[in-house]
Amino acid sequence: MNTQLNNTELKSTNQEENKETQIMEPSKIDGFNSPTIWFKYNRLSIQTKSANLGHGFPDWSPPEFLMESLARHFTGGYLQYTRTNGHMKLAESIAKAYSESYKREINPMTEVLVTSGGVNGLYTILTGLVEKGDEVITLEPFYDCYLPQTQFCGGKVIGIPLLPPPIREKKEYLDPTKYKDMKDFWTFDFEGLKKALSSKTKVLILNTPNNSTGKILSYEELNQIKDILEDYPNVTVVMDEVYEHAIFDDYDVLPRMASIEGMFKKTVTIHSAGKIFSCTGLRIGWVIAPQAIIKKCLPVFAYSSYCINEPAQLAMAETLENAEKPYKGFKTYYKWCKDHFTKCRNMLIAGLAKLDNFEVAPYIPQGGLFVMGNIAHLNPKPKYILEGDDKEPDFKPYTKDYNWTVNLAMDQKVISIPCSPFFTKEHKHIGTNYIRMAFCKTFETIELALERMKGLEKC
Ligand code: PMP
Repeated sequence: MNTQLNNTELKSTNQEENKETQIMEPSKIDGFNSPTIWFKYNRLSIQTKSANLGHGFPDWSPPEFLMESLARHFTGGYLQYTRTNGHMKLAESIAKAYSESYKREINPMTEVLVTSGGVNGLYTILTGLVEKGDEVITLEPFYDCYLPQTQFCGGKVIGIPLLPPPIREKKEYLDPTKYKDMKDFWTFDFEGLKKALSSKTKVLILNTPNNSTGKILSYEELNQIKDILEDYPNVTVVMDEVYEHAIFDDYDVLPRMASIEGMFKKTVTIHSAGKIFSCTGLRIGWVIAPQAIIKKCLPVFAYSSYCINEPAQLAMAETLENAEKPYKGFKTYYKWCKDHFTKCRNMLIAGLAKLDNFEVAPYIPQGGLFVMGNIAHLNPKPKYILEGDDKEPDFKPYTKDYNWTVNLAMDQKVISIPCSPFFTKEHKHIGTNYIRMAFCKTFETIELALERMKGLEKC
């Protein structure tokens, strides 16, 4: 179990840095000067020696076929620039791996861009497309980087909250064989989308499976969105599908917007090798999009990264081919992913349901790597403040999601994540009612977390 974040990487930001940023002129970075939620909660995890169900990185090694390819290519003695869009071998493997599910022949020369993970793919596309005054619409909760990336371009994020399914009695979660039929589906707010769209809208970002609810947008929903967008031909749809292989129950293949007739020409899809192959530190991903969009956004990537390291690209080209072969008794590596992540999900939810004092109401995710839980009915005491937070210029008393998650870390030594950072300012009050736990963790880590939570105090 090699994936332990290193303490020296997570030294606290010092107050001098804060003072320096305070005296600077207003800038596009404003509001994002303090450490990210990931930094804060990973540091808390190390400080409290917690079982880390916070950040969505797996705490196991990537598949052997990836490690073997990496070792071979990193010691091969050739480490030079590649084509900016990506090494042709990898671009060809990507085109081959995705053409069937995109229902078209993807052109490896013109329709693929290899990036430094999903974050860099999103950054490249948003920076290429969004101009000052533009609006970017997205589902809430959202992956937190959409906000700063849009703001850096002078744009504004408009959030449309997903609507939660009803809360169930805790005992309904005791038996994982029933989860498949419980269908705790979050609802897409089509009226909310219609209201949010305007002549200012440049991009619609749809993250499916959604971080943190696990919602998968069905073909029916994607088609309805397509119809609504017909009145807005200048809107580009950015599909963030980084959890494409963490799909459960009835899903064997993720419904893709880009595969719907007429949609490829206005759709960009973001993929992450880190999420697919449990290698979030390798920093590799890819964007698949029509040539015109890749061409427009390419300068952002060419003049910031130029290209991704060659050995990782070559290893990934082989890995995409190897992933289609039998793996650990399953027909493909992807089938194993579905089975394994389903087991992790079920173990965490059933384990939580068995805890006498666990009062959070969880929802069963259709996909993704997280269980989102409702804490609207709870009143966690404000007991602790995270290192440095009270020195922040705009420090405010913690909301209930922070109190609940910080108390859990300090008192039980288990890390979860507050959900208010995944909502716009306008909708943060909704996010304060939720916390998130990652289940892309070994059975030992999940077991340890459950054991430690036996001592939870009611609140
Ligand atoms: N999109 C979503 C929805 C994510 O949750 C994440 C990572 N947590 C990313 C993109 C970024 O992926 P990567 O690690 O490949 O940059």
